[in-house]
Amino acid sequence: RFEYAPAPESRAIVDIKSSYGLFINGGFVEATDGKPFKTVSPSSEEVLAEVSEAGPADVDRAVRAARKAFDKVWAPMAGRDRAKYLFRIARLIQERSRELAVLESLDNGKPIRESRDVDIPLVAAHFFYYAGWADKLEYAGAGEDPQPLGVAGQIIPWNFPMLMLAWKIAPALAAGNTVVLKPAETTPLTALAFAEICQQADLPPGVVNIVTGAGRTGQALVEHPDVDKVAFTGSTEVGRAIAKAVAGSDKKVTLELGGKAANIVFEDAPIDQTIEGIVNGIFFNQGHVCCAGSRLLVQESVYDEVLARLKRRMSTLRVGDPLDKNTDIGAINSSAQLAKIRELSQIGEDEGAERWSPECELPAEGYWFPPTVFTGVSQAHRIAREEIFGPVLSVLTFRTPAEAVEKANNTPFGLSAGIWTDKGSRILWMANQLRAGVVWANTFNRFDPTSPFGGYKESGYGREGGRHGLEAYLAH
Ligand code: NAD
Repeated sequence: RFEYAPAPESRAIVDIKSSYGLFINGGFVEATDGKPFKTVSPSSEEVLAEVSEAGPADVDRAVRAARKAFDKVWAPMAGRDRAKYLFRIARLIQERSRELAVLESLDNGKPIRESRDVDIPLVAAHFFYYAGWADKLEYAGAGEDPQPLGVAGQIIPWNFPMLMLAWKIAPALAAGNTVVLKPAETTPLTALAFAEICQQADLPPGVVNIVTGAGRTGQALVEHPDVDKVAFTGSTEVGRAIAKAVAGSDKKVTLELGGKAANIVFEDAPIDQTIEGIVNGIFFNQGHVCCAGSRLLVQESVYDEVLARLKRRMSTLRVGDPLDKNTDIGAINSSAQLAKIRELSQIGEDEGAERWSPECELPAEGYWFPPTVFTGVSQAHRIAREEIFGPVLSVLTFRTPAEAVEKANNTPFGLSAGIWTDKGSRILWMANQLRAGVVWANTFNRFDPTSPFGGYKESGYGREGGRHGLEAYLAH
């Protein structure tokens, strides 16, 4: 049973150290060839901690530790014994869930309601789910005697720091691989707390290694000759660079990249549920969601009603302190991301779209952006084509289902899509026409460890979650 303590959640329940080393071979160690960097709370600009930067020599140390653990301990271990460690980690995450939720909200800026009720429960759920697979790998779709790949180099973004870690580490370990994971430079703290959890769980040294740092650290990990598998979640641009870097090697690669999902509303959609789904689709996690419903496609006949109700609902959203349980929209993760959202929104206005936000007072300190909707958007507008990765919705219209499909698929991305309609047959027809890895019907942003997740086209390749996520860590 997942039961999480209700608020009050407060800063006082987390114990953040002033500085952190790298987690290599079961212990925290000093970096040998990188400068420390600061991680800042985006809601207050307060420096939370100083974190070590791993240079190539540190990455090498981590990969060596992972290799040794793979050869000597983890791969030879019986699946049922690996499962015990994963179950132990899952339970420790549950036990420490309030603290982890606060830490995530402080470092990332997301509302505590989300980190407490979505991120951290799903982190635990992933470890429970993959623990159950560890002694049943012959059913994972990789033959009767499936073998792990070896050392996995894993690189994750800042939008769901601990959940992305769980998506990567849980299946890799269940399948018998060892890992070196690099969290994003703006959100390293929950990954470092996870390192402590590995120690608490008595995980054998070297099975999980955490190297903090920015692009240089990630690059050293990708290029390391003894890494067998690279798993990356992040921007399409960096994904492309990684694909080039590993081309010609025998490294296996999975890439989970950007998106520009269409959320498609038909005239027979259940209206109350739909408005909530639109709001959740684009304002959940400040819109820092690769599968965010950032392009709203509304059937012309209900356009006026949907827009009026959407604006009314947006006027009730509270923007502010991530640790306040009444907050709906937290802080933008970094000043760089805020600048990107501002720039694309300005481009939207300059290209002639109409911008609207409810009146809302934003805190003086920190990085904030109000919930925003653009109307009068055409397919040629950059805000209809490019990922903004913020609380900004672009609205387009359509008349027929065929036109909705044409517009929805008119994007270089293909990660997710949403359909809102009362007609089951239309859902089935649309789901087959949409070029998206995930299609939600009358819901949005629903995640579950049992369901595979991943994209088409420039949204990447490979699947995470479910049996497919496990297969990505097994030799065929
Ligand atoms: P990013 O690509 O800038 O960074 C992602 C990670 O890659 C970070 O840890 C970063 O330090 C590292 N990195 C940067 N340069 C590197 C290099 N040259 N080699 C190796 N590693 C490098 O992306 P971001 O800004 O952190 O995250 C936002 C992006 O992630 C968005 O585009 C979003 O759509 C995408 N995303 C996708 C999914 C998915 O599942 N498809 C999930 C979350 C986020």
